[in-house]
Amino acid sequence: MANTAKGTVFYKEKAYSKINEYLLDNKHSKIFILVDSNTHEHCLPAFLPKINTNTAIEIIEIEAGEPHKNLDTCMGVWEALSDLEGDRKSLLINLGGGVVTDLGGFVASTFKRGIKYINVPTTLLSMVDASVGGKTGVDLGNLKNQIGVIANSEMVLVDSDYLATLPTEEMRSGLAEILKHGLIANEDYWNKVGKLSDLTLNDLDDIIRVSIDIKAKVVAEDPFENGLRKTLNYGHTLGHAIESYCLTHQEKQTLLHGEAVAIGIILATYISKELKNFPKDKLEGITKRIIELYGKVDFSQKDIEKIIDLMKFDKKNEAGIINFVLLKDIGAPEIDCQVPNELIFNAFEFYKTA
Ligand code: NAD
Repeated sequence: MANTAKGTVFYKEKAYSKINEYLLDNKHSKIFILVDSNTHEHCLPAFLPKINTNTAIEIIEIEAGEPHKNLDTCMGVWEALSDLEGDRKSLLINLGGGVVTDLGGFVASTFKRGIKYINVPTTLLSMVDASVGGKTGVDLGNLKNQIGVIANSEMVLVDSDYLATLPTEEMRSGLAEILKHGLIANEDYWNKVGKLSDLTLNDLDDIIRVSIDIKAKVVAEDPFENGLRKTLNYGHTLGHAIESYCLTHQEKQTLLHGEAVAIGIILATYISKELKNFPKDKLEGITKRIIELYGKVDFSQKDIEKIIDLMKFDKKNEAGIINFVLLKDIGAPEIDCQVPNELIFNAFEFYKTA
């Protein structure tokens, strides 16, 4: 078997030689490639010619987008695997964004009690975040990522060429997780990525590697999120609640994952200033940059109440207590912080008037 630790990330051409080595060394009964309608059109034609194997390949397609990251879609994929005679020696390759890698990883980890899978992320967000670290799963109704398992892929293949067809708003969505990596881990990196209003493909390869390294280091130290890994949820406690709320309220503008996280980052940074003495000038700098990049969303008092209500489903909560990640400074996160609701309202007020 090829010398690859589980979940290892490979880049560009090396990635294809590694997967081909892996396919040669492991006698899979069948290879399934999971795509959504967009990655079927834009990514599969580039991916297939890079794969050298005599093993039969089957393509399974799901509908694109977060509303389809649910158990109904899993059911369709499990049934397709079964109808196409998938067995425990089958391999699933997830070629897509975070929806495909999250859902595909979960389907693979549960089909026949677990088959091997490989992630080939095709969005910026899935490259720097979703495809790395072994968190898999789906939404339950409008509640984000409630059902899932932690199960590592065999490897992750990162090729930024796939980003050439990714819409700009999806690039911006991925940038939010990159900004988060800077804020929780490295001020120099934040200063670099916070200035990138217009990401070019040339900047990207370096940035993607640094972000993946930040995430992979945290995950290696705390794979099951008992402590340090929670820091990767910076901006997500409110971000997920905002994303869930907007998903189910047609009158609100639909927010991509990263767009909701960007708002969550501003709110969490304001709360960090209030509770952890996070420097005020840095809060203002972060807020200005994020609003320049993502614009602003209006939230009424009623919206905010419902968003706060949704936070009770956050997976970091313990015994009904909502746990936030806050920052003492850039690169100095603190986990398991409790925040009074009043401060959350104040944070939304700060965002509104910023
Ligand atoms: P996504 O998978 O919905 O992809 C966004 C859109 O881009 C989709 O319409 C998709 O079809 C399209 N697309 C994908 N690649 C393309 C390409 N190369 N060219 C053109 N179109 C392309 O969403 P996402 O932003 O990649 O991921 C968001 C999901 O990731 C959320 O569900 C979030 O919860 C999850 N996530 C998971 C983790 C984790 O650790 N598992 C971390 C962060 C986010």
